[in-house]
Amino acid sequence: MKGDFNPFEMAQAQFDKVADQLNLDQATKDLLRNPLREYHFSIPVRMDDGSYKVFRGFRVQHNDAKGPNKGGIRFHPQETVDTVRALAMWMTWKCAVVNIPLGGGKGGVICDPHNLSMHEQEQICRGWVRQLAKNIGPINDVPAPDVMTSAQHMLWMLDEYEAVSGSKFPGVITGKPVGMGGSLGRTEATGFGLIYTVREALKLLNIDPANTSTSVQGFGNVAQYAIRLINQLGGKVICVSCWDQEDQTSYSFKKEDGIDLDELLGITDRFGGIEKDKAKELGYEVLDGDAWIEQEVEILLPCALENQIREDNVVKIKDSVKVIGEGANGPTTPEADKVIEEKGIFMIPDFLANAGGVTCSYFEQVQCNMNYYWEKDEVLDRLDTKMTAAFHAVSDLSKKRKLYMRDAAYVIAIQRVAQACKDRGWV
Ligand code: GLU
Repeated sequence: MKGDFNPFEMAQAQFDKVADQLNLDQATKDLLRNPLREYHFSIPVRMDDGSYKVFRGFRVQHNDAKGPNKGGIRFHPQETVDTVRALAMWMTWKCAVVNIPLGGGKGGVICDPHNLSMHEQEQICRGWVRQLAKNIGPINDVPAPDVMTSAQHMLWMLDEYEAVSGSKFPGVITGKPVGMGGSLGRTEATGFGLIYTVREALKLLNIDPANTSTSVQGFGNVAQYAIRLINQLGGKVICVSCWDQEDQTSYSFKKEDGIDLDELLGITDRFGGIEKDKAKELGYEVLDGDAWIEQEVEILLPCALENQIREDNVVKIKDSVKVIGEGANGPTTPEADKVIEEKGIFMIPDFLANAGGVTCSYFEQVQCNMNYYWEKDEVLDRLDTKMTAAFHAVSDLSKKRKLYMRDAAYVIAIQRVAQACKDRGWV
């Protein structure tokens, strides 16, 4: 993270801008620019060497007017409560923009899984659930994976919740392993969903995906599946960047005629870190971490963390760039947004672009409730339908009212949530 960047202030600034345009009354503004509830707690863990360590955990429930709170849990050494607040707020807009009956929540633990054994991570997962067992549940708040948490973490959390409550509740958490209440297609969903929206943007711009090159920031779950689908559409990805745990910095890996996804996956750790010496042997140029943004490509996909396209580096974006699809949450600051809007780049904003994950989580809950599981094609077809419809609702509004895509997405999402609050008689 750079400087004193505060993601919650950024999320509130984005909200305020659109709330003013919508002439929302003061009470609705006050309600929506802050979380409804939040939980801060300690998770004591007995480490493998017998020592004890206490981790800080959070759950923020931003708004549940449209349904149970929904959103992932991040494990990150730089996690802050303001990051979790921002992410919870973005979840509210995300669920609203794709029109699924869920609210917004987010959780986090300040920890670095790179330095924790699987057993220690299991204890953190179980401790997190024990602290919150009364406040989460299939009909009030449903967590899911996020940065550095996986299906295995979700299964430990499910198991702990069921042990505490003494019953089976497969719908309490999503992103579970397939065969243990998970949905086929959930692993692919965020990356694929992102590319469904990119595909639609390219159609509007009359660009054939086969004539595009893409540069990607990040090489975790979202980036990997986005790259796979871009390749299937005929496009090539020439650059990816990722975090290097050993050097505590990031690098970009470039191959002008297109990276080979499977080849790179063969030299990547479970956190999405690529081994740079092996990459060099395979003919990749290894460049600095910011190089991904300054490539001569048509598509940029920030798929890592927040605060990545800023006032200081937005100027590095080449004129060739036509579309930015935000796979990450909050990658672009409001200052950088202004420059992107002026340049006329087609922005697919985060809470629309990466809504595929939570949409599939919703499908997972539906399947858990029925105790009947769909085939993968059925899941992905339904996902495509939802993402495509949401994309066009936003792009139509953006065209009609001459709004920047992010603002158009906010207009739709805020109106839906504000209406739900009003209909319930909250404001
Ligand atoms: N963590 C993902 C997100 O930011 C997915 C949330 C979910 O599936 O509930 O959208």
